Amino acid sequence: MANPLAAATYKLAAHLPRQLPPDTAREVAFAGRSNAGKSTALNALCHQNRLAKTSKTPGRTQQLVYFEVQPERYLVDLPGYGYAQVPEDLRAHWQQFINRYFETRQSLAGLIVVMDVRHPLRDYDRQMLAFAISRNLPAHCLLTKSDKLGRGEQSKTLAAVRKQLLADFGDSVGVQLFSGDSKIGVDEARGVIAGWLQL
Ligand code: GDP
Repeated sequence: MANPLAAATYKLAAHLPRQLPPDTAREVAFAGRSNAGKSTALNALCHQNRLAKTSKTPGRTQQLVYFEVQPERYLVDLPGYGYAQVPEDLRAHWQQFINRYFETRQSLAGLIVVMDVRHPLRDYDRQMLAFAISRNLPAHCLLTKSDKLGRGEQSKTLAAVRKQLLADFGDSVGVQLFSGDSKIGVDEARGVIAGWLQL
């Protein structure tokens, strides 16, 4: 099957709410702690090497970055989080922007939470999932860098995270193994996203 996300191109970066595209589209947001592998996941999903910039520079993506898959269908790269170096005022600005985005954005059709398979369900991940649940938005977790674990550890972690999600958030949150590097779970994740975007 052709990859429905392969046509993704950079659309815009928004630092303020008024810079967002008109709220009449369908979009899927990607959240994750810095270094969780979000850029790598976006690149793998869209089958492009340099769409989202992979970088170890802390806090470099301080915007909501929009990628257009087709007219009025977007993937949204939310700012990474988790580096202590981000100044307090910038952090507050982001907190406010993200809160407002989650509360008001009608176009938002689903949330992908990218988590390192070796460090799942940290505070930030839980906060993002809570946002989604609070407005009945479907959410789906990618356990990235799964290639770093053996088969046995992979299934054990997947089962443990699934159980924890069910206990804490109910059954509206999905989870799967993922690796942008070895392409584990890429088709499965694409299917979820394409469904949410009605591609
Ligand atoms: P981001 O900050 O969440 O966008 O994370 P990046 O995509 O920039 O990745 C952070 C680091 O993890 C980089 O060194 C990547 O090469 C590495 N990484 C990301 N995804 C994978 C993966 O699937 N497997 C492995 N082994 N490393 C990965």
